Amino acid sequence: WLGLAGRVAIVTGAAGGIGSAIAAELAGAGVAVALLDLDGAAAERVAAALGAQGAKVAAAACDTADQASVAAAFATTRAVLGDADILVTNAGILRPGPLADLPVAQWNALMAVNLTGYLLCAQAVRPQMVARGGGAIVHIASIAATNPQPRSGAYSASKAAVAMLSRQIADEWGPDRIRSNVVSPGLIRTPLSEAFYQAPGVLDRRSAMVPAGRVGTPQDIADAVTFLASPRAIYVNGAELLVDGGLDQV
Ligand code: NAD
Repeated sequence: WLGLAGRVAIVTGAAGGIGSAIAAELAGAGVAVALLDLDGAAAERVAAALGAQGAKVAAAACDTADQASVAAAFATTRAVLGDADILVTNAGILRPGPLADLPVAQWNALMAVNLTGYLLCAQAVRPQMVARGGGAIVHIASIAATNPQPRSGAYSASKAAVAMLSRQIADEWGPDRIRSNVVSPGLIRTPLSEAFYQAPGVLDRRSAMVPAGRVGTPQDIADAVTFLASPRAIYVNGAELLVDGGLDQV
């Protein structure tokens, strides 16, 4: 139905909660998937599990904030799977702290991964997509892109910037048949957010805040990403899809 069989995808942060679900969903749709993560061994483990189920996979260690690391990883997975026509920029970090005395080094480190890394990966995949006659980029932002979050100023600013980066790419690369869209998750339970859920009662309180009555799962995000990556979304470019159970209605 999705028309994804035979495509080649690169997923960053693919060893994490949301990234591994995206990789699995794409693989299940017949996509060959390159799994990149700062934790290369963890990416290898996720890839091996998908490979054991018959998926075509590759894995590489990659620091998406580092241009040389991105170039090396994209070349490695290209040698295994060929040119990619799907990129999911997902690797992100949270590092909360109040803005008043946020060390500039902490701000820069977060921006390097959550914003610059998204650009570096998009730039790296562009020639591969052009070689394939087009492609689809899906950037993982957050509802923090449109709503301030407690102690998360740098994070929220990075996600808002990603939303505009995506629209710029849509505008500049659309003529090359490269689509660029955003998925903005709401409250999703993953290793990144797990600390929030440790306190007693938080899961129930957060669930009650969401019109859907529950916090989200990585699978909820993977389903939306897979649609936007597929030819079923061929006329969707420069869009942002909130996947938050109705929490943040804009
Ligand atoms: P996670 O911590 O489970 O996974 C993130 C992965 O990214 C990890 O495997 C980590 O090793 C990897 N990573 C970190 N820095 C990297 C780097 N420099 N280069 C390559 N890989 C790197 O987090 P998650 O919850 O799965 O988050 C995935 C994305 O979803 C992030 O962009 C996050 O901001 C976004 N998001 C998450 C939530 C949530 O509630 N969990 C909500 C909104 C948006």
